[in-house]
Parts: sequence; C-alpha cells; structure tokens
Amino acid sequence: MATSRREFIRISALGSAGLIWGSYLLKAASDSVAAAGKAMPWLNPSDLKITPTYCEVCFWKCAGWVHKDDKGEIWKITGNEKDLNCNGRFCPRGTGGVGQYHDTDRLKTPLIRTEARGKQTFREASWDEALQYIADKMAKIKAEHGPECTALFTHGSGGKYFTRLLKAYGSVNVAAPSYAQCRGPREVAFYATFGRGLDSPENTDIRDTRCLVLIGSHIGENMHNNQVQEMSDSIDKKATIITVDPRFSTAASKSKYWLPIKPATDLALLLSWMNVIISEELYDKPYVEKNTFGFEQLKAHVAPFTPEWAYGITTLEPELIRKTAREMAAAAPAVIIHPGRHVTWYGDDTQRLRAVAILNAILGSWGRRGGYYMPEAPVVPDIELPPFPVPTKNWRMALRGKYALADLALANGLCDATIPTPDLDCSIKGWIVNGTNLMETLPDRKNTMKAIENLDLLVVVDTMPMEITGWADVVLPECTYLERYDSLRDTHHREPAIALRMPATNPKYDTKPAFWMARELAKKMGLVQYFPYETLEEELDHELQQMGTSLKEMQQLGVKNLEKTENLYFAEGEDIVFDTPSGKIELYSSTFADAGFDPIPVYTPHPEPPEGFYRLNYGRAPMHTFTRTVNNPNLHDLMEENNLWVHPKTAKINGLTNGQEVWLENQDGIVSSSSIKVRVTERIRWDSVYMVHGFGNKSSKLSRAHGRGVSDNELITNVMMDPIMGGTGMRGNFVRFLTSKSEESAL
Ligand code: SF4
Repeated sequence: MATSRREFIRISALGSAGLIWGSYLLKAASDSVAAAGKAMPWLNPSDLKITPTYCEVCFWKCAGWVHKDDKGEIWKITGNEKDLNCNGRFCPRGTGGVGQYHDTDRLKTPLIRTEARGKQTFREASWDEALQYIADKMAKIKAEHGPECTALFTHGSGGKYFTRLLKAYGSVNVAAPSYAQCRGPREVAFYATFGRGLDSPENTDIRDTRCLVLIGSHIGENMHNNQVQEMSDSIDKKATIITVDPRFSTAASKSKYWLPIKPATDLALLLSWMNVIISEELYDKPYVEKNTFGFEQLKAHVAPFTPEWAYGITTLEPELIRKTAREMAAAAPAVIIHPGRHVTWYGDDTQRLRAVAILNAILGSWGRRGGYYMPEAPVVPDIELPPFPVPTKNWRMALRGKYALADLALANGLCDATIPTPDLDCSIKGWIVNGTNLMETLPDRKNTMKAIENLDLLVVVDTMPMEITGWADVVLPECTYLERYDSLRDTHHREPAIALRMPATNPKYDTKPAFWMARELAKKMGLVQYFPYETLEEELDHELQQMGTSLKEMQQLGVKNLEKTENLYFAEGEDIVFDTPSGKIELYSSTFADAGFDPIPVYTPHPEPPEGFYRLNYGRAPMHTFTRTVNNPNLHDLMEENNLWVHPKTAKINGLTNGQEVWLENQDGIVSSSSIKVRVTERIRWDSVYMVHGFGNKSSKLSRAHGRGVSDNELITNVMMDPIMGGTGMRGNFVRFLTSKSEESAL
C-alpha cells in the first residue's frame, strides 16, 4: 500500500471547480475598506506598472520589482537597488522566477482524496468543501486526541499564518526543515559561544574581509546573492580565499588555497589550525584576554593536535595546515571562517560548528570589520490578538528528553512522534505541510512514509504537485509569490530593513494565498478572532503604520532601510557583555558542560566507506534550489538533470566512461529509482562522488522534473543524529555503481 501511494495524482472524477478566484483578492481589500465607509488607502496592482516583491526562488529573499508589459502581463523581475540582500541585482535563478507563474504543471484547484487511504485518487473540490473537510477532521482530532496531536511543517512566508492558526487551535508543534536538516547546528554552536546565532543572511563582513575560509560552503554555486557579490569584490581587493572541500568547487577555483580534505575529518583540521594559532601565539591576545572565557582549557585541549597529527586524519600536508593558519592570523581580525549553511553532515555538527566559532573567536573576528558585524533586525509590531491556549503537550516532550539544546522544533522529531510508540500517550494525528516537499527534505523517506500511514489528516499547501502532494488527503493550491501579498520580510543586515511582497497580477487558476486559506479555515474552526483583519492588506497597513510608514508607501518603495541604533563593530576597548552564562565569549562552553556535552570540541572518527563504495556528497547548482526550480520552464532549460562527479581513478577501477548511465546502490541496499550520467572529472577526490540536490523527482505531474537524474535524498538512509540539538547528519552514506537496474545487489 505504501509504495503505491508514492505514485501520483489521478483525478478520478471532476468535482465542482469551486470559486472562481478572478479579481476577488485584488478587490477584497477595497470591498472591505469600502464596507467600512473608507477610501482604500493603498494602490491596486493594476494601478502599478512595476510592483514590489521579494524572491521565493530560494531562501535569500532578495527584494525586487516585477515589471509588466503594456497588456499588464508579467514580463521580468529585476533587483531593488536599495536592498542589501541583492544590491539591485538578481541572480540567474531569481530572474527565472517568472517561470513559476507560467508553469502549466501548477496545482490549479483544491483536491480531495476519494478512495481509501493508500490509493492515489483525487477529485477536484470547491474551496468551501476542501476547507470544511479539514475543519471537520481537525475538530475530530481535537475531540479524540487533543489539539496538541497536530503539527505544521513549513517553509516560506505563508507559514506565519498557518502557525497562527495552529497556535489558536492549541498546538505549538511547528517545525521548519531548515532547522534540523540544515542550519540548526551552527545556530546552537554560535549561540553557545557568542550568545547570539547567525540567522539569515549571516552577519559575515565579506565586503571588508582580508581572508575568507570556506569549509564545505559553496558560495557561487549556492547563490547567496550579496555574499557572492561581496566575495567577488573581496577577491578583486586581493583577499585570500581558502577553500576546504573534497571537491574543486567554483569557490575553490577562485581560491589561493584549495584543501581537498578527506571527507568527515573537518573537525581535526579545525583543531589543528587552533593548535598552530595558539602554539605560535598568533591569536588576538588583547581580544581573547578581555572577551573570552576558558582560554587556558582550550590551549591545553588543542596542544596535542599538531598538523602532523591532523595529516594522518585529513590527508592534508602539515605545511599546508600551518601556512593557511598563518594566513588567517595575518589577516585577523579581518578574517572569516565561514559558518556555512547546510551543516548537518556527520552527527557531530554542533561541535564542528563550535570549533568554527572558537577559531573565529581566538582570531578576534567577532564584532570586527572584515569579520562578523553586529546586525540589527527591524521590529515589526505584533498585531493584537487574544491569548493563545496553552498546550498541555508540545514538540519537546515528543523528544523524550533528548536533544536538550534544540531551541526550535525538529521536523524529524515531529515525524518520529507521528509513529505510535508505547511511551508516547498521543502520537501526532494531523499534519499541515506548507511549501516543503518532505519526501526530499526529511532524510530516511521510509520513516516519513511510515509516519504518514499513521495520520488521520494530511493537508498539503503548495504551488506545485510535489511528491508530498501525492500523499495528501487534501491539497490546497497556493498562488505563486508573484500573485500574492505575504508577511513583511524583516531581515537583519548592516541596516535593519523591511521589504514588501505584493501581487503583480491576479492569481491564475483557482489558487489562493496562505493568509486567505488560514483565515477561512479559522472561520470554519471558530477561531476568526485570531485573524481580526479581513484582508492581508489591512493587516500589513496596520503593521506598517505602527512603523511610521504605510502600505501605500511600501508599494512605491518596495524596501525601506531603517536606522541602525547599535554600532556595526565593537569599539576599541569596549566592555561587551555577551549573552552567555559567563557574559564572555565561551571558548569553554558552560552550557554544553551543564548539559553533559563536551565543553570543547573533541574529534571522533567517522565510519569509512565499505569496500567498493564511495561517499555520497551533494550540493547546489546556481540555477536550482530544489525540485520546484527543476520543473521551472526557464530554469529547466539551463540545467535539466544532475550528473555524478567521479574521479578518473574511480572511473577506471569501476570501468565507467564519461556520460555513461549508472544506477546507484547505497550501503543499505537502496537502489536509485532512476539513472544518472557519469561525469569523469579530477575535480573530486577519488573516495567520493558528488551530485546536485533536487533531482530524481517521482511526481509524474511534474512534466520536466519527473525522473530526471537521481535524488540524493532517496539514497540517504543512514542518518546520524546530533545528540546536542537533534540535527540529522546526512553525509555518512556511501554508494556503489550499478550499470543496469537489474544488476544483482551486493548486499
Ligand atoms: S539569491 Fe537568487 S534565487 Fe535566491 S532570493 Fe536572491 S535572486 Fe532569488
């Protein structure tokens, strides 16, 4: 039953097409305000030739302008000059975002499953019917199990409104896979060290740096827009780039030093760099003395970790380790050991990122020009709402006392809590999945499918028929970011800034924005008091008025940079109180010690590939973020499938040639559903292979993405849990090559 459910949507019977969206949304605000006897104090999209937005093609959220032609059709997107995330320039995939609007594979109308669970049959439904179905099921779950037995998985701006709905209903089980599957370990590590996390965009002062160290971070392939621009400028200004990567990435090609490290040994290198910097007295003595806690313990701890020790582990020459450590120290404090973003690799990731934080600290880069600046976020005032009910159970209880330092809900934890066990008196029974394809974002998809089998309700909100959509009981089609208002973007940066996203045009098909869906559901669930404004325009205008601006002004500006009230850098000799137990930068973490974890990072070896297998590494390409972009007609033209990087020596041993199609089998005997073309290249170590993430999608409703290349996620079945915060380490998976799908498994 489970496997048949993975196939995709068949519309068995056509139901009512439901409400025709037409110009409802765009008129709603004026109707609502007109009903109150006032003139609409903001503009209609039809009044504007260019409309402000912020990009949703990746998480960087660059602000830009949507241009329309003379007929009012969406034509192109350009960057907003005032926006610090993009400095007026969109990256190629952001420019291709208009393809999302034109993609004819989009979800077009609400869908309800028509047959027993486990079957793949849907029918079209009206919005009223689909929302009533959800409201009734949610009421049943509340009555039978309690409201806490529901969870929201979310990625994207609409999450704010579904979060509000879920809290009003009585659950705080809200998780974004971007935490435990991506950047959570670095947030916990930097918080424990400096008393503040990094968030997005990171506060790295690349613009003024003299030395940038990238450890498995692919700036340039991962389009962190302003970071890419700043890195390019810093190279022009002769900054030293040091790239640590088993692959000769684009960043490596721009680097003075490429350190092709043996995978899974990065922590040994970091400890060894500290050894050199401390033993040669290259650290920032006044800064360390004034601002840090635990230096003597750190010094004693790293004393044995010489470059010769690290050589045996990392395969990097001792002289190269020494030379690069000295380069960093020579540039300090204008040096950045970059924290990376997707850091869930080997299960000891929080400790690896602690080592990154400590290395920055002893070089004095935190709070210094060319290191890490001190950002400030704008304060978007909350609207007044009735108090939320206090749940009797929450996501932390579902962790059964593990992962004590997780500060946000774990998507994998909520997934696990959905599978009934004797020690949990209430397994989760209902999921709302907003804008995240859990089949690709959560590792171990067998586990995800097992959890789904135990649900009473699975609602998927998305713009596209992703693989997760095929598992839903109800599918709610969201309009694209080019057709809707969303919550204000409130990013911190060198200056705090807000940005507006508004519709450039009416939504296509029978699709709607998240705010509308959440509010209509709230009405049906008796919770509309948590959505006091009938339209998002009214709510946004209220928020903006309290910030001294208005929706009308933001429609014309797009971005408003606010005044910074704190200094960007620490002043010389300034007494800083850090938000840590000691009030200092904690080289020795008392938080970790109190929680029973190593207060200073300790290197532990990780499993090696079995004979005949190679470590599976994955990353991004500049034109794609995930499956949604793979199906985007504009971006698909730029890269239509991924390929597998294989070193010539490995290719020779395995008899592979350039362009040959292979299937991959992992250490647990899982064989890829589709094949992938081999790319023989010296740009990868012989013991590893590499592919771009987001391909190999199984949804047959995605006419361009379906079956193109291989999904890395499908082969990630060994998940190494981070004991500190529950991150899912995903780089301990190994593959071998099969030249035909029927080739006998070695396992
Ligand atoms: S980096 Fe590119 S894709 Fe990402 S938000 Fe910015 S323009 Fe869009």
